[in-house]
Amino acid sequence: MKNKVVFLDRDGVINKDYVDYVWTPEKFEILPGVVEAFQILKEAGYLLIVITNQSGIAKGIYTHKDVFVTHDYLQSLCGNLITEFYYSPYHESKTASLSRKPNSLMFEKAIAKYNVDISCSFMIGDKDRDTKPARKVGLKSIAVDDKERVNRHADIFAENLLDAAKKIVSL
Ligand SMILES: [Mg+2]
Repeated sequence: MKNKVVFLDRDGVINKDYVDYVWTPEKFEILPGVVEAFQILKEAGYLLIVITNQSGIAKGIYTHKDVFVTHDYLQSLCGNLITEFYYSPYHESKTASLSRKPNSLMFEKAIAKYNVDISCSFMIGDKDRDTKPARKVGLKSIAVDDKERVNRHADIFAENLLDAAKKIVSL
């Protein structure tokens, strides 16, 4: 059986983004409506998988353990609704990687592991580097928090994650 999945960027979609990274529960500010959005999507039968760049690890700013602790905190806030987290610790200033978005390796791994039905799955992100790999692997994508609509690879635009969730279940 194939699974339908909503892939989620993290920073700027689930939590408030900061240019200097988020790697502690104290700095992890979940955005309004996120838990409700997760609940709507889970009730509609979607698995939720986070796909996030965490290049602060490559830069030595924080560690893998910090990422695990922060993701455990997110799970505690949302009642463990997220099936899995994929994160890329790399940065091109240190090492090349096919996992760091806009490359698509994290998506490809998740699609293989969870036998994802791409035709009814989505990616939600706030940057072009989220929607570009989604399009490459055949997912429909939704750009949030993009009033100027500068995202070149999005199929749908939404105000925020809750709006995106409502759009998905009404399609
Ligand atoms: Mg983001």
